[in-house]
Amino acid sequence: MYRVSVIEGDGIGPHIVSLTRGLLEYLADRYGFSVSFVEAPAGDRVKEETGEALPRDSLEKILSSDACLKGPVGETARDVIVFLRQRLDLFANIRPFKTYQGVKSMWSGVDLVIVRENTEDLYRGVEDVGHDHAVSMLVITRRSTERIARVALEMAMRRRKKVTIIHKANVVRSYVFFRDVCLEVARGYPDVSVDEMYVDNAAYQLILNPQGFDVMLTPNMFGDILSDEAAGVVGTLGIAGSANIGERYGLFEPVHGTAPTLEPENANPTAQILAAKMMLDWLGQKKNDKNVLKAAEDLDKAITTLLDTGKTLTPDLGGAAKASQFVEAVKREIAEQR
Ligand code: ATP
Repeated sequence: MYRVSVIEGDGIGPHIVSLTRGLLEYLADRYGFSVSFVEAPAGDRVKEETGEALPRDSLEKILSSDACLKGPVGETARDVIVFLRQRLDLFANIRPFKTYQGVKSMWSGVDLVIVRENTEDLYRGVEDVGHDHAVSMLVITRRSTERIARVALEMAMRRRKKVTIIHKANVVRSYVFFRDVCLEVARGYPDVSVDEMYVDNAAYQLILNPQGFDVMLTPNMFGDILSDEAAGVVGTLGIAGSANIGERYGLFEPVHGTAPTLEPENANPTAQILAAKMMLDWLGQKKNDKNVLKAAEDLDKAITTLLDTGKTLTPDLGGAAKASQFVEAVKREIAEQR
């Protein structure tokens, strides 16, 4: 039995999370594993109701679960996700971006992963703001840099064996340190081709030549910004899922935010579903559970088929399908596979 804590979040969050839960129950039934969901309320709405964005009880539920499935949260992101990344030591943020034949985008043949250090940099929260000054400290440690570099290099070994280290070493000395530690770790991976790029050039190349990237290894803030750009390159934020992984915990969420102006049924649930697919992969590998791994694989195939054929598309992709209709189409696709 997998115990999954659930943060529904705000805006479109509760709807796309609820649909994704239904899909996970369907997969559990079909592939022979069991999953139980534990509500861990957090976010803007919870703060309004209780005064706290992440109540103690929710944190305890997350800490005692096997994995956390999280929807987007709005203004309280710092108190929820930035806090959880540090508290659970979720040091690796994995964000894959791919083009699909049926999804209109600037390019085809894009398949890259942003591997973002998730606990340090300017987001560490070492800050001092007064009336006449504001200081935020950029923190990079050897330990965190070494472990995120290893994640990126290991991932490259399973892919096209290429890592690009993104930094701003020409201006900020802490990024010289980041780059140099990454290069030291890379010496242990002679089969991986490693290059480096200033973040401004990376932002430019991501638009002009996204197929040139395989694994982009980034400090925290650059990875955050480049992720939204990469989502734009592949067509929409609605198809970008992500994993936050540490030694013990895993938390899975879409890259996008709460899209507060969007009617929830007009949202694309794919990013949330792909986050759940990454959760199944992580749980399946951790517990060596073939059923869960097969469910993840077939879910990925179903999404790929739907997005390649463009048969059922949500409004962000130019289609008319409601979020719930898309999820039903995913289930039908899975049923046809087996
Ligand atoms: P937040 O304040 O929570 O960050 P936001 O609207 O500023 O919300 P996002 O939620 O990331 O930022 O949305 C950016 C844009 O992408 C919006 O135009 C939104 O409608 C669109 N978008 C985001 N997620 C989806 C989705 N799942 N399906 C369709 N469109 C989406």
